Amino acid sequence: MKYDAYFIDMDGVIWVGNRIIGDAVKAINILHEKGKVLFLTNNSTKSRSSYVRALLNAGISWASEEHVVSSGYATALYLRRHYGKGKAYVVGESGLIEELISQGFEIASSEDCWKKVDFVVVGMDRKFSYEKLWSAMTAVRNGAIYVATNIDPTFPTEKGLAPGAGAMTAAISTGAGRGPDVIIGKPSRIIFDVAMEIAGTSNALVIGDRLDTDVKGAKSAGLKSLLVLTGVTKPDDLRKSEIKPDYVLDNLMDIFNLSIDF
Ligand SMILES: [Mg+2]
Repeated sequence: MKYDAYFIDMDGVIWVGNRIIGDAVKAINILHEKGKVLFLTNNSTKSRSSYVRALLNAGISWASEEHVVSSGYATALYLRRHYGKGKAYVVGESGLIEELISQGFEIASSEDCWKKVDFVVVGMDRKFSYEKLWSAMTAVRNGAIYVATNIDPTFPTEKGLAPGAGAMTAAISTGAGRGPDVIIGKPSRIIFDVAMEIAGTSNALVIGDRLDTDVKGAKSAGLKSLLVLTGVTKPDDLRKSEIKPDYVLDNLMDIFNLSIDF
């Protein structure tokens, strides 16, 4: 088996919080010489340019914005292609707001949610509040298109698992009385479609640390997957899960011992 591209998750693969997984960086630098590498992340808190800075700091010296597909970027692109323009109320952080603005969207205020808002866009928001929840559910109840950048229940940090965008989405859905109209990030295939378009190939290997997003999403997009045990998934989780990756590694450097024809 030979792959033309590698779609690599970041949290739990390249780093956990501020700790960089050194061997992974080494492996990714080698993969870059063998195929097209794209970084796919459900985390919408940072913009692509902030990810590039983080990748450069981690030792991936060739990283540029063209290598990064965040759920925030994929969301902004999806909305522009499907709806053109509009006003979005954002439950999320600066990275998501930046991507929406760069695709030409207007950002709505809380007060706008009681008037007219075209979209409610939800990502992980470490300043999530009762007021934001109230505004978002009101806009959805008033007919806004409800978009989740992703529905990851948790997010890995050095302190352990933190609430992810899925926790915020669940709160808004409960208040709004319905779930999102569209989910962009893994395991939805929308983010993989964007990646395949950028890479110019569908012969790609998905590398990630989560069964419910990276591996499940790869399957939904018809791609092979490699699970690394450096992030969220523990060997016991893998044994219990019905979602099975094509490859499992303790350490990404072991990829070069697999029967992949680089
Ligand atoms: Mg991850």
